[in-house]
Amino acid sequence: MIIGLEVHVSLPTKTKLFCSCSTAASEPNSSVCPVCMGFPGAKPMLNSEALRIAVSIAEALRCKISERVSFVRKVYFYPDLPKSFQITQLYEPVGKDGLVECYDGSVVRIRRIQLEEDPARIIKAEDYSLLDFNRSGMPLVEIVTEPDIKSEESLRAFITELMSILYYLGVDIEGEIKTDLNISMAGERVEVKNITGIKNMIDAARYEVRRQSKIIEGGGSVISETRSYVEAKKETVSTREKETDEEYGFIAEPDLTWYDTKGITRIEPVYADKIAEGYAKEYGIDKKVVLDLIMYDRDALRLIERTKGAFGMKTIINGIEIVKKYGDIGSEQAFKRLLDFLQNGGYVDAAAFEKIKKGEKVEGNVIDMKKIIDEARLLLNDKVKEDYKKNPKAINFVIGKIAAKYKMNPRDVAEIVKRIIDG
Ligand SMILES: [Zn+2]
Repeated sequence: MIIGLEVHVSLPTKTKLFCSCSTAASEPNSSVCPVCMGFPGAKPMLNSEALRIAVSIAEALRCKISERVSFVRKVYFYPDLPKSFQITQLYEPVGKDGLVECYDGSVVRIRRIQLEEDPARIIKAEDYSLLDFNRSGMPLVEIVTEPDIKSEESLRAFITELMSILYYLGVDIEGEIKTDLNISMAGERVEVKNITGIKNMIDAARYEVRRQSKIIEGGGSVISETRSYVEAKKETVSTREKETDEEYGFIAEPDLTWYDTKGITRIEPVYADKIAEGYAKEYGIDKKVVLDLIMYDRDALRLIERTKGAFGMKTIINGIEIVKKYGDIGSEQAFKRLLDFLQNGGYVDAAAFEKIKKGEKVEGNVIDMKKIIDEARLLLNDKVKEDYKKNPKAINFVIGKIAAKYKMNPRDVAEIVKRIIDG
């Protein structure tokens, strides 16, 4: 299986790509003007913030940045595009030839990154359609990968990595991410278009791989076609639409000049994956545990950075997990109080969390290690120990029981329990 992706992400600008209409309107067709409705004679003006974010994305994905970028009209007619062309990029896109190193060690090359406008939104009713032009002209970045993804796991790893990099650039795409998948198993390329969301993307890939495998196993051959994903049925269906780039007309956009990218100040990228790897090496902890905490959480990352010298890394991680469980800790000072409390053997429940947050003294709530060890020893009878040799999960109930009773982190309890078993 070989998968290539085209990922469309909306940029967090206040105004649209080529006009000053707001991107935040909710009432349909309330944020429109002659430019984004495509009236004849209306002239587009490039939103420089959109270009800055697009260049930052391209650089974070290690692309070569075009020194000058230009735009083209991609000519086609569809009801969501009454002016009959979409302004996009072709010859001088924002970036080319990049790569993403995923947390599972795989590398996905980026073919190109381009800036383009979103068409209007079509809302289908029973026997008619409605158009909302609020979306028309919204800034999008399209990220096109090479066909480097070879399994469902690496598809997941890539998209998780990409989302994390985008998140730290301020482009939060959760939920609204739109993807086209190109999947080929025996040479013929099948494109699955317009998938919204990550779960759907993975489900669509899984379905398509299964569908194509079945055809190949049955001695048939897969035909090259465009399909779309039907979320309700979790399957892909053939669509009659079959456009390739050659079938579109592209002409240079005469209303826009080219833009110099040299002087643009980039947003500094953060690679959560590399940071987690660094912590794992330095503090001897599980990279995955740290990564899960910081991948989409700049507050968590900041708290680790600010406290790592003063507290043990395990305590810090435990502290962040507690913050994630009970909500905002309020201040860095309060977080340090929480770590102090944990370091002194305290356990935190909702009430203790609130007290620590407010700076009040917490009475009780101190873990009696001796008591816990005695209790664990009692539960770990010979039968459990025997079962554990065959199935490591056999001790899970002991861990669960103690963690629940003493409101402890199951991972810490697991460590204690394993130490008892090992004598
Ligand atoms: Zn407008």
